[in-house]
Amino acid sequence: MSDHHFHPESLMMSYGYKPELSEGAIKCPIFQTSTFVFRNAEQGKAFFEVAYGLREQGKNEELGLIYSRLNNPDLEILENRLTLWDKAEDCAVFESGMSAISTVLFEFLKPGDLLLYSSPLYGGTAHFISEVLTKFGVEVMGFHAGMGESEILTMLDASDKRNKLAMIYVETPANPTNAVIDLELIRQLADDCSSWDKRVLVAVDNTYMGLLWQHPLKWDADLVLYSATKYIGGHSDVIAGACLGSKALIKRVKTLRTFLGNMAGPWTGWLLLRSLETLKIRMEQQAQNAQIVAEYLALHPKVEKVHYLGLLTELDGEQYDIYRKQCTSPGAMVSFEIKGGEHEAFIFLNNLKMVKLAVSLGSTESLAQHPATMTHAGIPVEEKKQMGITENLIRLSIGVENVNDLLWDISQALEKITIEEEKAISRASSSFV
Ligand SMILES: *Cc1c(COP(=O)(O)O)cnc(C)c1O
Repeated sequence: MSDHHFHPESLMMSYGYKPELSEGAIKCPIFQTSTFVFRNAEQGKAFFEVAYGLREQGKNEELGLIYSRLNNPDLEILENRLTLWDKAEDCAVFESGMSAISTVLFEFLKPGDLLLYSSPLYGGTAHFISEVLTKFGVEVMGFHAGMGESEILTMLDASDKRNKLAMIYVETPANPTNAVIDLELIRQLADDCSSWDKRVLVAVDNTYMGLLWQHPLKWDADLVLYSATKYIGGHSDVIAGACLGSKALIKRVKTLRTFLGNMAGPWTGWLLLRSLETLKIRMEQQAQNAQIVAEYLALHPKVEKVHYLGLLTELDGEQYDIYRKQCTSPGAMVSFEIKGGEHEAFIFLNNLKMVKLAVSLGSTESLAQHPATMTHAGIPVEEKKQMGITENLIRLSIGVENVNDLLWDISQALEKITIEEEKAISRASSSFV
């Protein structure tokens, strides 16, 4: 009995919270406080000694609460619960996904270092890398999802920057094309560029697949990043982010977070604690709905192509192999190309009745958007083409609604394309007459 290990979904209601410290409240209260009272001066001294690294934390010594920029119960309990899914040693929570990402990039890169990143990346990350990091003298280089290790190494050697490589930053599956990257290969690549005195770090933005369906630490990634705004928050009512990894790396991340002051507040922490209780059932229902929607779209006469991991087969070769090796579910993000161009895509988007026209993803409600003119509007036309972000591409984030309502809504919006086309044709022919 005593060696029974509870599953993460069973621990989301209680892990790390002690009711006796909060008047017996079954749920963790919101500790809406900026500072914490020390029992006496000796205790205050002891807390600061540990916080400033003047000495190691004692074996049975509880890390004391000092000030909410450093630590807060809602944040600490949330961080402890987040570690369970990825089996990480430690976690740091931020006020947004972008603050988690930018803090990690600042902490582990310095002028003269080379950052290698997969392309396409989330727009905010791509901007931070190309516009901000480069201002601080960090060199950056992108690679495409389809490139093999030897191709990437050849590119690195051609640039003569291989020995400067400090980090490989990856997003898989890629947004919005769902192209997958082999995390085992990325680790191998990082190791091949490491030396006895320098480990090339692997950082993975796992927002599309976490916390349930892909675990980069299993493939020896060093850092896992999340926009907790997406599946983790899951209700489109909070912006937050997280970073997971070893105790030693997260200590560095938390130290920079203390001085940038971009930790999440107690209210954000509490909202995410509440969200985590239903994370598994939400994500599973979303993926189940997404598979049905993707299969429906694949057979629809108005649809040219569907990009969804759950539709990959052996015929897709390497992409299928990586997906089967690395992911335990195809997820809830479905992209598809409508027959036609921007005009047809917009007719579809403008006629949806239940699915909302909005960016973001991973929430209880289904969302639709047009990557070429919305999330990926900032990418030059040629690059967009290369990445497969075409004028007729639509990205769906599937929610927990009744799947028949989703199919009805998508079907009636697709139907409008014909009706409007027929109207246009009849207008044209009547003006001809
Ligand atoms: C949304 C998102 C981010 C940015 O997160 P914010 O919480 O909006 O700051 C980063 N990466 C991916 C993959 C995202 O979807």
